[in-house]
Amino acid sequence: MRRIGLIGGMSWESTAVYYKLINEGVRARLGGLASADIALRSLDFREVVALQKADRWADAGQLLCQTACDLQSSGADCLLICTNTMHIVAPRVVMACDVPLIDIIDATAQAIRAAGRRKPLLLATRYTMEHGFYAERMSRHGIEVHVPDAADRAICHGIIFDELCQGIVTPRSRQALYDMAAHGRERGADSVILGCTELGLSIAPDALPLPGFDSTVIHAQAAVDFALQDVDIRQMAS
Ligand code: GLU
Repeated sequence: MRRIGLIGGMSWESTAVYYKLINEGVRARLGGLASADIALRSLDFREVVALQKADRWADAGQLLCQTACDLQSSGADCLLICTNTMHIVAPRVVMACDVPLIDIIDATAQAIRAAGRRKPLLLATRYTMEHGFYAERMSRHGIEVHVPDAADRAICHGIIFDELCQGIVTPRSRQALYDMAAHGRERGADSVILGCTELGLSIAPDALPLPGFDSTVIHAQAAVDFALQDVDIRQMAS
């Protein structure tokens, strides 16, 4: 089994979900007592958020590159940045490392395409919805990303940082997110991306008015697929 390197802590609320999903995925495939081989670095999210707020993306990139190199030294065979937002600096991390980065945007785009959808509404942080990197990468897969209007983007951003990243889940915010999905459908979206790794703590993809794609679940599954590639091949050969 290959070792999965997780760059986590952004926030730890969602990293805990990654840890559980990846282990559940390995157990589902291998059974019994099998569990994932994981190397985890969990950053102090307060420091990351300070860099985000100050628009210091180069420094944030430096921090993630250093963390990625540490994980590589710990024997990680692949890397996951356990947040959509910080994929802003994913190209730097790719340059800094020799092991593959499993990109959350690519994995999510592939899942959307496989389901025959093309126009997802993106629910995410302000950075992910507004900085262009996400929509640009999705467009390489033929996916046209829609975003909520400015007022809803601000509300979504606030729910993520003021509540979900701090372990606070409220019915009111859940309803607000469902309402955004309903508005998106009225404006022509054909699906919804839970494009922040904490959103699944509040909303269930199946309960949305459109097909939902939870980036955390998809990303964790992609990691399991990568980790077990050789294992499956060996089992098939024996
Ligand atoms: N985990 C969130 C995401 O997927 C937001 C936290 C962050 O700013 O990294 O974008």
